[in-house]
Amino acid sequence: MRWRSPRAEIEHLIEAGDLEGLLRRAGELHGHYCPYLAYGVVAGYTAVRMLGVRSVGMEEVLAIVETNNCFSDGIQAVTGCTFGNNALIYLDLGKTAFTLARRSGEAVRLALNPEFEESRRAERPELRELWRRIVAERERVSDEERARFMELMEEEAFDLLHRPASKMFIIRRMHIEAPDYAPIYASHRCHGCGELVMESRAGLRDGKPYCLSCLGAQHPILDGRGIYIGVWRPE
Ligand SMILES: [Zn+2]
Ligand SMILES: [Zn+2]
Repeated sequence: MRWRSPRAEIEHLIEAGDLEGLLRRAGELHGHYCPYLAYGVVAGYTAVRMLGVRSVGMEEVLAIVETNNCFSDGIQAVTGCTFGNNALIYLDLGKTAFTLARRSGEAVRLALNPEFEESRRAERPELRELWRRIVAERERVSDEERARFMELMEEEAFDLLHRPASKMFIIRRMHIEAPDYAPIYASHRCHGCGELVMESRAGLRDGKPYCLSCLGAQHPILDGRGIYIGVWRPE
């Protein structure tokens, strides 16, 4: 049996130029439709077409994202470069921009065009007002208002697919120095909790390996604020 990529359907949508189909796929991952998800879909699609790449998530194609907002889910869904397959490189720069690269270094970077974004924000006053209340102010609103908000965001997201990518983004071909493949680390059994921990993340106490949680040591955390160094205290 010939191996068939689980991304075959997504690749088919890319080949067919079916941006709506791609946005629906991205919505399955993201949970809702919104303009930044649509931006991610258009950016991902444009870059994949420009480089002519297909990804099976083995780090042969790399996506370097510069934000952890909705945009990056569109990128992951369309390019197949994800948080878990190490083909996604995250730069905590807070910019709606991303670079798609082949391992050879051939790359293309797309950054949201500020003028396009400004004109988008001037449209749909009803949506902007709901956004301010629901997202920015975290105001409790009625179910009807919330549904209306989701509906308007969906409408805007799908409408954006009809706008030219060349107006939406500043697009530049470039060459990057691709990083090495992700190293494979051995796992150790933490002497404290008994769980397996990657060698590169284990610390030693009295010559025994421990995970950083058991050591109470600081480690990088990525949450809605971005990356920072701290100690995670879930309990
Ligand atoms: Zn979103
Ligand atoms: Zn432990």
